[in-house]
Amino acid sequence: MHIFAIANQKGGVGKTTTAVNLAAALAANGQRTLLVDLDPQGNATMGCGVDKRSLKSSVYQVLLQMATLAEARVISPTGKFDVLPANRDLAGAEVELVDLERREMRLKAALAAHQADYDFVLIDCPPSLSMLTLNGLCAAHGVIIPMQCEYYALEGLSDLVNTIKKVHANLNRELKIIGLLRVMYDPRNTLSTQVSAQLEQHFGDKVFKTLVPRNVRLAEAPSYGVPGVLFDKAAKGAQAYMAFALEMIDRVNSWKESNL
Ligand code: ADP
Ligand code: MG
Repeated sequence: MHIFAIANQKGGVGKTTTAVNLAAALAANGQRTLLVDLDPQGNATMGCGVDKRSLKSSVYQVLLQMATLAEARVISPTGKFDVLPANRDLAGAEVELVDLERREMRLKAALAAHQADYDFVLIDCPPSLSMLTLNGLCAAHGVIIPMQCEYYALEGLSDLVNTIKKVHANLNRELKIIGLLRVMYDPRNTLSTQVSAQLEQHFGDKVFKTLVPRNVRLAEAPSYGVPGVLFDKAAKGAQAYMAFALEMIDRVNSWKESNL
């Protein structure tokens, strides 16, 4: 089981879109996949066709150990993968976790019981470096960082990289940055292509080969509760996320081989 947190403390950079579409694309490739929604906005939950207003239990109850993962997870009706859903309740978790023991390890503990159930677990983190994101980073083996190729993208990156370094040093020795995913890419925009080239220069192999273009079909899909990769399979954005899933499967397989 490979656990990846999809994180970037900036909002609107494509975390949820990446989480939902990668989950659906992995599932379409036969990978047993769980998507964990760690954002109180519940956008990932809604985006895979699960109604956040009618949940019996959610990731909130799991973090507070009032429900098990097995009780709280649901199947995406559109995406053929499991979802540990979220809604507004989760906003309270931040405060309620403060006094609890091993508060940053709650998600890790919940996933540990399900090692055999999944090939991939994807965690959609909220736009902050909060206790919720910390739970995501402590549970994960690696971080996928979606980013737009704009000037300020690089500025925010150092805060995230520092947080990941601290978590690695103090809480989770396994954690590493898997890669930077360039999203909402516009090849006609000179700044976009410049920043993209800078990223490759600076981060080398840590930049995924797949480029996700700006594509309106990806933005339309959530309102139908269908992952973009299934909503319009022929769209450029859908094809990019399908390619990204194959890139991730390749990466994971290459680790297996190097461990032989
Ligand atoms: P985050 O989870 O980081 O806040 P989202 O995934 O919700 O970001 O994306 C922010 C907005 O941008 C959403 O309205 C989403 O539909 C849109 N969006 C994300 N990726 C793309 C893309 N590749 N092309 C067009 N719109 C996109
Ligand atoms: Mg989001």
